[in-house]
Amino acid sequence: MRPRNTRKSEITILEEGFTARDFMEEIITGDCQIDKDAFLVADLGDVVKKLLRFLKTLPRVKPFYAIKCNNCRPIVKLLAELDLIVPARQKLHWSRNLELNLTISFMQTPVNVPYQVCSQMMTFDNEVELFKISQNHPNAKMILRLLADDTNATIRLNVKFGAPLTICRHLLETAKKLNVDVIGVSFHVGSGCSDPKTYAQSIGDARLVFEMASELGQKMTLLDIGGGFPGTDDSKITFEEVADTINDALDLSFPEISGVNIIAEPGRYYVASSFSLAANIIAKKVLSPPELCGEENGRKKNMVYYINDGIYGSFSCSFFEKTLVKPIIYKKPSPEQPIYNSSLWGPTCDGLDKIAEHLHIPELNVGDWLLFNNVGAYSMVTASEFNGFQLPKIHFVMPHQTCVFLLSENVQCC
Ligand SMILES: *Cc1c(COP(=O)(O)O)cnc(C)c1O
Repeated sequence: MRPRNTRKSEITILEEGFTARDFMEEIITGDCQIDKDAFLVADLGDVVKKLLRFLKTLPRVKPFYAIKCNNCRPIVKLLAELDLIVPARQKLHWSRNLELNLTISFMQTPVNVPYQVCSQMMTFDNEVELFKISQNHPNAKMILRLLADDTNATIRLNVKFGAPLTICRHLLETAKKLNVDVIGVSFHVGSGCSDPKTYAQSIGDARLVFEMASELGQKMTLLDIGGGFPGTDDSKITFEEVADTINDALDLSFPEISGVNIIAEPGRYYVASSFSLAANIIAKKVLSPPELCGEENGRKKNMVYYINDGIYGSFSCSFFEKTLVKPIIYKKPSPEQPIYNSSLWGPTCDGLDKIAEHLHIPELNVGDWLLFNNVGAYSMVTASEFNGFQLPKIHFVMPHQTCVFLLSENVQCC
């Protein structure tokens, strides 16, 4: 997948002590915001922090980036540059050609690979794929994608991909007969996985597949533990909890002396919390239950708000993921203000364009701003200009201290 050509993707370096949120507020209050268009602020410092946290918490795992999650050019470029600071022990010494456009199932591009490079490494989970590879790509390095239990994930992937353990021996035998090189095992526990035990289970399963291969005289060298890591700190489980379970499972099934290269391909983890959206109320409707009158009627009013971004734009992920969207009211309401049952809608003419309902919030007005955090994953990539509404502008910002850090690491970003 190529990085998206963001219309305007210059990066603003923030002054010392100035945060991405301050930058957002400055735009909201500034004179240039006459149109009150919705806009996004992407905090590149947050992405850097996430990568450093990954390296510290999962020291044996080399993190790649699942570009499909957010392909904005500054994000992809930053992660590519950051690969320079991945410690040597987490670097891979084998072929870096991971991008693929041949088979339907694929791994993600490592952060440091030019997009044009065609892939050697591909995943497979069935026999037909092996026949196809043996005929078309004799040099392929194949990775067997194992079925994982993703019932606790926000987005399930194993309904579509993954070989059950029971057919793995047969697949490995077939590969051997066809002279197809199988170098390792991958799995994906589903995006937004909320149960760390799933990783432990899959790592244990992968161990069994490694043993099957060695019984057939093949030495596998790669374990890919996929993605699924939480992207925000208000998720059901923290990244550290997931990492603890993974580290224990790896030490048990793939201890360092096994010599197996361990990689992951997080998407959501890096980018979910780095993007925030500011949207403006463009219309409002007050619904009063007809059977009530007087004061009671006033209290039972339902509020309907329309804002200038929606399910076809920056909230496209919430449509797929059925996540609860929680707006932050920019102008702090006073605690005495009455609360109304309210719903929030996008600007298009589609009745599906409902962002949130049953919000219990004070009365808002046309022109008020609402802020939304954690909109970086699987949102811009699936957004469209349906109904003629332009996608919001993205402001990429880099906090001062991030810039200082990157320069000290010789990463060319500022
Ligand atoms: C989508 C995807 C990822 C990234 O998943 P996240 O849950 O966003 O971390 C990683 N690997 C594969 C094969 C994928 O399809």
